[in-house]
Amino acid sequence: MASADIAVVGLAVMGRNLALNIAEKGFTVAIHNRSAGRIAEAMDAAGPLKERLVACDTLEGLVAELKPPRQIIVMVQAGAPVDETIALLLPLLAEGDTVIDAGNANFHDTVRRAADLTARGFSFLGIGVSGGEEGARHGPSIMAGGTRESWGRAEPVLTAIAARFNGEPCAAYVGPGGAGHFVKTIHNGIEYADMQMIAEIYGLMRHGLGLEASAIADVFADWRRGPLDSYLVEITADVLRARDADTGGPLVDVIVDSAGQKGTGRWSVMEALDLGVPVSAIAAAVDARSTSAALDLRRTISARFASRPQSLSGTALDGDRDVLEKALIAGKILAYAQGFAAMQAASAEHGWEVPLATVARIWRAGCIIRSAFLDRIAAAYDRDSRIPTILLDPYLADLLADCLPAMRTVLATAVTHGHPVPALGAALGHFDSLARERSTADLIQGQRDYFGAHGFQRIDKPGVHHGRWQG
Ligand code: NAP
Repeated sequence: MASADIAVVGLAVMGRNLALNIAEKGFTVAIHNRSAGRIAEAMDAAGPLKERLVACDTLEGLVAELKPPRQIIVMVQAGAPVDETIALLLPLLAEGDTVIDAGNANFHDTVRRAADLTARGFSFLGIGVSGGEEGARHGPSIMAGGTRESWGRAEPVLTAIAARFNGEPCAAYVGPGGAGHFVKTIHNGIEYADMQMIAEIYGLMRHGLGLEASAIADVFADWRRGPLDSYLVEITADVLRARDADTGGPLVDVIVDSAGQKGTGRWSVMEALDLGVPVSAIAAAVDARSTSAALDLRRTISARFASRPQSLSGTALDGDRDVLEKALIAGKILAYAQGFAAMQAASAEHGWEVPLATVARIWRAGCIIRSAFLDRIAAAYDRDSRIPTILLDPYLADLLADCLPAMRTVLATAVTHGHPVPALGAALGHFDSLARERSTADLIQGQRDYFGAHGFQRIDKPGVHHGRWQG
């Protein structure tokens, strides 16, 4: 007799922890994994929760254990494995059953899968799940995309397992089709920018001011008392404080300085480029990871140009740490503004009606970019859901205006002393371009007309005009 409320297929780090989380909230979960070893591992890790897990060696057995209408969370490696798993599942399911892809899918795949499954009478949800292993086990942030009916069926379980901020669950329906996975993609893009900017400020303190890692940890820990209070700043302090058992020195010093990436940062930039929305801070962060990975080339270039980080002692950065804190606050506001603008544009393009205040709210806990600052962004969209950019929100605009002079000081000092600040620099460059009533695109239009006869508009009369450029 069918006894399980929901199923999880794919029991690597995320699937196993998600299943345990669901079981802990009182639901019975059928579990399956392609390789049997992970099923046994999940059962071993379950402890007393084992009684709410139903281990299934086959997908047929898993489907038979589910109460109809069935709900199956697929948590396998993103890409082809999701299609392969769905293809094996569909012949076993009945009309009205729901497949929930909870991995980091590319939202274009989600749109395709949603259309395909819906046409065949099944229901489909593409949900972004953020928070890593810890989040999956104890409360992730969940961004759901699909039909409202599918969300309605899955909501009790997904809401129960989500993180909570002031008692509110960090799980919500954000729109049809690929909306959930798009929002998750942008979350990750913002995460890249946030991490990169933190790393740039760390670099100025470490390589410019020569501070010990533990002293920098104290600075970041102190910043948790202000607008920068966030999970990323918290773990930055922890990472900088950790000691290496072998050398006795800071653990960060023995880590190879080459950053990995799995693709969601790059996707967010590619989508924003297609939408024509500048996300320069996110793009700079993705580029910075790529540059970091070119270890040999960096070594060669650094030797060729005899480049060494210059000391920042005695500069404007060598005093109290407020100037660095404010630069990071400004960078953060500008990067988040870019990410939210990308979601706003995608929502308009696809007709998703993504509730941006809700997105900010469900990111306040559970996910990697969680922070109290997101409360301010939620408030901005609550005040005006159609505001073209959060930079025009009264509170955020005032905060940015207060922090911009410090950001300029930090960037000017960094650049003249040879310290890389690509994400902060890109964020300020974008802001300065936005904040110019008259840009230099008049010249660009002149150049385009010169070589391509593309035409230009005049400020003083209508129509398309051409210049007589030669002679
Ligand atoms: P993963 O390493 O991405 O994938 C491993 C899982 O996929 C295993 O269960 C594996 O089964 C299964 N799998 C691979 N190819 C398969 C196929 N062709 N058919 C059936 N199953 C297949 O696992 P993960 O780290 O737990 O992540 C799961 C999803 O969550 C991914 O989309 C990931 O991007 C996303 N995510 C991960 C994190 C994180 O912190 N790890 C955070 C958020 C989101 P076998 O055991 O049989 O190989």
